[in-house]
Amino acid sequence: DVADLDLAALVRTIPDYPKPGVMFRDITTLIANPAGLRAAVDGLVWPFLDARVSLVAGIEARGFILGGAVAHELGRGFVPIRKKGRLPAKTIGQDYALEYGVDTIEVHADAIRPGDRVLVVDDLIATGGTAEAAIDLVRRSGGEVVAAAFIIDLPDLGGADRLRAKGVAVRTLIS
Ligand code: IMP
Repeated sequence: DVADLDLAALVRTIPDYPKPGVMFRDITTLIANPAGLRAAVDGLVWPFLDARVSLVAGIEARGFILGGAVAHELGRGFVPIRKKGRLPAKTIGQDYALEYGVDTIEVHADAIRPGDRVLVVDDLIATGGTAEAAIDLVRRSGGEVVAAAFIIDLPDLGGADRLRAKGVAVRTLIS
């Protein structure tokens, strides 16, 4: 029964990846499991069935897998938010801080229209820096962020609180 499925048990933890001291939460084992994939996608979809979402935006790369499925279930289109330099048409970019340095994500300048109601999807929220940059891109495009949805929250890193402080509803399935 999907309702009884232990989603957390399907997530694999890789110690010291990508560097010593980091416990990497790997969702590839969860999404390879048919009941796991269904439960994860359904869990990201059902809170928003009546939320008048007009677009789903997924963050590269695992947010594409989940966001594509969420968009399909909601009957809406999908917009990719990508690392710098990978989108072919005119883009807008948003910088965000990393532990050391800065990175940039981009979205096509015409992908999100004023009035769009956007659900932002990724696999995991840690510090919230990536998701915050994605939210800024949606808002700069004239879209409204309905919510940000993730399979995994790492609450000690404060990302969900950081998004809520920006007025964004946050949906997570596992802490
Ligand atoms: P944040 O910007 O610190 O919230 O980090 C979240 C981003 O980094 C997301 O795009 C995640 O996919 C990725 N990320 C950070 N830590 C992990 C992890 O343990 N497993 C999988 N992805 C991670």
